[in-house]
Amino acid sequence: ISLSDPIEEHRICVCVRKRPLNKQEINKKECDVITVPSKCVLLVHEPKQKVDLTKYLETQTFRFDFSFDECASNEMVYRFTARPLVQTIFEGGKATCFAYGQTGSGKTHTMGGDFSGRAQNASKGIYAFASQDVFFLLSQPRYRSQDLEVYVTFFEIYNGKVFDLLNKKAKLRVLEDGKQQVQVVGLQEKQVSCAEDVIRMIEMGSACRTSGQTFANASSSRSHACFQIILRQRGKLVGKFSLVDLAGNERGADTSSADRQTRMEGAEINKSLLALKECIRALGQNKSHTPFRESKLTQVLRDSFIGTNSRTCMIAMISPGMNSCEYTLNTLRYIMQNTTR
Ligand code: ADP
Ligand code: MG
Repeated sequence: ISLSDPIEEHRICVCVRKRPLNKQEINKKECDVITVPSKCVLLVHEPKQKVDLTKYLETQTFRFDFSFDECASNEMVYRFTARPLVQTIFEGGKATCFAYGQTGSGKTHTMGGDFSGRAQNASKGIYAFASQDVFFLLSQPRYRSQDLEVYVTFFEIYNGKVFDLLNKKAKLRVLEDGKQQVQVVGLQEKQVSCAEDVIRMIEMGSACRTSGQTFANASSSRSHACFQIILRQRGKLVGKFSLVDLAGNERGADTSSADRQTRMEGAEINKSLLALKECIRALGQNKSHTPFRESKLTQVLRDSFIGTNSRTCMIAMISPGMNSCEYTLNTLRYIMQNTTR
């Protein structure tokens, strides 16, 4: 396969989403330093100071497959990111969509939506929209008669360990057999027969993710959550869509923390996000070697990074506030390394 093969060029899609300023940021009169002048461009107006202490804004330009401003809905973001990948799993492929960014930038909002009951209207995220489209395709004449079944899994990777969010956070082992097949032993695959079934699973797993621990919020920012939609034909795997809500990327900098546990978690997050970048690059450049063993995250997602029919979408989430500027630039630099543009 040549590198210029048009299909190959579209294996990786890199996007960015800016969330609106939140109440605290508005109360603190924080400036919005991000603008989205067109559908593929994002500008960061970084505050700088000259030697004579005069302040100015330095504008940096970033280009993406799509950039979404604060007015974009979850459905809109879904339509241009994960949706084009749904068909892949009906064609025997692996699709993967990652939400990357700082804690509080909107990763969980975008991927999982909000079913907590706190929101006025439960809002769907990419997990739910993708499942809806899987059932829509299944109802089409082309697939209706094929005896296809849909399953979902939902798990969390925290400090290099895997926990089942659809089974009371049971700790699971990851095994690699002689044929390099990676298996999460005992991971619950729940069969679902309609979009409402899936929403119940998302609610159950999301509640499990944030419950039962005194450091609930901290722990969700330090773990990767992975929701998978699995298509089977009479038991045999056809395709798999992995939707990943990554750990807050600022946690990777916790390696100098005074607390040993925090330091270890930070190192683990750093390692997994670096490994992820390398694996996605390998996928994009058709490299024969993919360093998926470098972290639990990339090991578990191994089959997403290989094979001729694997497609990936990365969505960088960013906070608009001036105080987040440094983190935002880190996020954008990381995400740009996943593309050759
Ligand atoms: P993360 O998972 O990246 O830590 P969250 O998804 O939990 O961040 O978002 C933090 C807060 O901001 C939540 O209260 C969420 O509802 C809100 N939020 C995030 N993105 C948006 C958005 N695009 N529009 C409105 N509110 C958002
Ligand atoms: Mg989150």
